[in-house]
Amino acid sequence: MSQTDLTIFDKLESEVRSYVRSFPAVFNKAKGEKIWDEDGNEYLDFFSGAGALNYGHNDDKMKAKLIEYIMDDGITHSLDKASTAKAGFLTKFNEVILKPRQLDYKVMFPGPTGTNTVESALKLARKVTGRTDVISFTNGFHGMTIGSLSVTGNSFKRKGAGVPLQNVVTMPYDNFVNDDLDYLERFLEEAGSGVAIPAAMILETVQGEGGINTARFEWLKRVEDICKRWDILLIIDDVQAGVGRTGTFFSFEPAGIKPDIVCLSKSLSGYGLPFAITLIRPELDIWEPGEHNGTFRGNNHAFITATAALEYWEDPDFEKNIQVKSEMVHNFLEKMVKTYPEMKGEVRGRGLMAGIASDVDGFSNKVAAKAFENGMIMETSGPKDEVFKLFPPLNIKEKNLEKGFEIIEESIKSLVK
Ligand code: PMP
Repeated sequence: MSQTDLTIFDKLESEVRSYVRSFPAVFNKAKGEKIWDEDGNEYLDFFSGAGALNYGHNDDKMKAKLIEYIMDDGITHSLDKASTAKAGFLTKFNEVILKPRQLDYKVMFPGPTGTNTVESALKLARKVTGRTDVISFTNGFHGMTIGSLSVTGNSFKRKGAGVPLQNVVTMPYDNFVNDDLDYLERFLEEAGSGVAIPAAMILETVQGEGGINTARFEWLKRVEDICKRWDILLIIDDVQAGVGRTGTFFSFEPAGIKPDIVCLSKSLSGYGLPFAITLIRPELDIWEPGEHNGTFRGNNHAFITATAALEYWEDPDFEKNIQVKSEMVHNFLEKMVKTYPEMKGEVRGRGLMAGIASDVDGFSNKVAAKAFENGMIMETSGPKDEVFKLFPPLNIKEKNLEKGFEIIEESIKSLVK
């Protein structure tokens, strides 16, 4: 019996709450890949705050830098004034991330969340092109404000709000096959087809909330080609797939594409603090001062922890290690699909953004619930929650990754019997 009465959430928190239902415990402590409830029960965190905790909980290095900054009365809130913490972040981001990848982007601070970066990207694309339409993809997830929700291909989340807004075309995709793009081009070529040349196309290279649907690199290249041909801005929403989740800092790196605008948030602060940036090809940075603003753009605590987080990327072994663990995860998932054909599973994903889509109704939710009983936090995704997702911290210890595999296998086994 928990010390905190769980009914307080039923009584007072809006019905919109969800994770409190999936994980009925009161959490109070976390370190690395482990999280504890107030009764001292330990869970392995294979959820990582939906991709916001890629470096695990309470990283020592980031914590030390943050405490030092706080003890020194470092500025907390600064709107978009210049601050030493912001200068430190921009310098490190340029040195460690942009320059080595030969990427030339201006950095915009759009507001604290993933939704804010998406909104700013959509607004800028409209301003730059003078066009209004945006093409997005079925099962894409881009945020919960009316604009970002309009490009989110999830009818459950859209219908109550009465979106999409006009001028958003949601392209159906079939595991990102080429045919849909041929179809799109035919629409664009056909004057009066009803599909106007859009301002932008927005997509995730791996759809996180939409079911770990993974775009093939050739498909991404083809999207880039179409964008170039029609002068459409390509926005990659790397809020969930970025910051190393798929094995490289940006998820689009191995595809060899260069988006016009990139949205980053979630794990960017490294420490679970709200923080987002929008990367803009310099010649597109036509904002006028103050044209897009927001009270919480200058989260200096996030600048401090994000700068410390980027230090991990200075060590080439960091990236190699993610790839080693990704291989372990994918091998494990392939083995599960073969060993337990009853779950009618298909392995999905790239890097440490992986999962199994089960064709058995409700199976993945049952796996996640069992895993919780067995000491693991895990999320499901996809339009019917058909995918159970493996999202461990990127720096999880191998022995805990293996322990996680055991918990998952035990959970599957108990359900297929
Ligand atoms: N884009 C993607 C790809 C996301 O996964 C999310 C959050 N799940 C968002 C945007 C919105 O981010 P936030 O919840 O921080 O507003």
